[in-house]
Amino acid sequence: PVVTIAVDGPSGSGKSSVSRAVATRLGLAYLDTGAMYRAATLWCVRSGVPLEDAGAVAAAVVAMPLEMGVDPSAPTVVLAGDDVAEAIRTTDVSSVVSQVATNLDVRAELRRRQRAVIETEAVGGFSGGRGVVAEGRDITTVVAPDADARVLLTASEEARLRRRSLEVHGAADADAVEATKDQVLRRDRDDATVSQFLVAADGVATVDSSDLDFDQTVEAVLAVVEH
Ligand code: C5P
Repeated sequence: PVVTIAVDGPSGSGKSSVSRAVATRLGLAYLDTGAMYRAATLWCVRSGVPLEDAGAVAAAVVAMPLEMGVDPSAPTVVLAGDDVAEAIRTTDVSSVVSQVATNLDVRAELRRRQRAVIETEAVGGFSGGRGVVAEGRDITTVVAPDADARVLLTASEEARLRRRSLEVHGAADADAVEATKDQVLRRDRDDATVSQFLVAADGVATVDSSDLDFDQTVEAVLAVVEH
């Protein structure tokens, strides 16, 4: 049977690595929608489009030549033929991505592309028609509210800051966590205006990963899927 699995969560919840592992286990494609918002941001910056100009940003994103590779063991983000997997993770992009993501025309365009990937995976595509795990902030509520399984992956603020700190600084001592804190909490606040991702919507299962290790979190999400 064709399966669409929707996973939402805030930064540091572990949703990307967990979603990739779930997709691999189930033989599904994997779509990182946050990477699409990041690529859109990088595209505007590289094209010299001022992020304050909502109309110009939307037009640039509609014309953006973006290819998302959906193999969960090696997902790729290719922008105008250029592999931008690393460039989209820099602080330069992270610190302004919410500005692009709050543009409603940008959201409409990326939502359209995300649904196109989900439909392609349902009929063939990388997964051969088995389906896709799509993760982000509004997948369970807006992009794929009729998904076969919907999960909100949460974690305490402390656990999220520790994980992000390890990702960004390679350490989770007090100084590194403090350096991460402002950025993570500011992005939470900026994102909250367009996407509800801290409280589960009706029918969405919550998995709290605060006290789970990686494998336990993957198992908990698989348990929701198999339920
Ligand atoms: O998941 P990640 O941290 O890479 O997402 C980057 C940004 O993209 C988020 O901070 C948010 O502004 C935006 N985003 C969104 N809707 C999604 C996924 C990501 O607005 N479905």
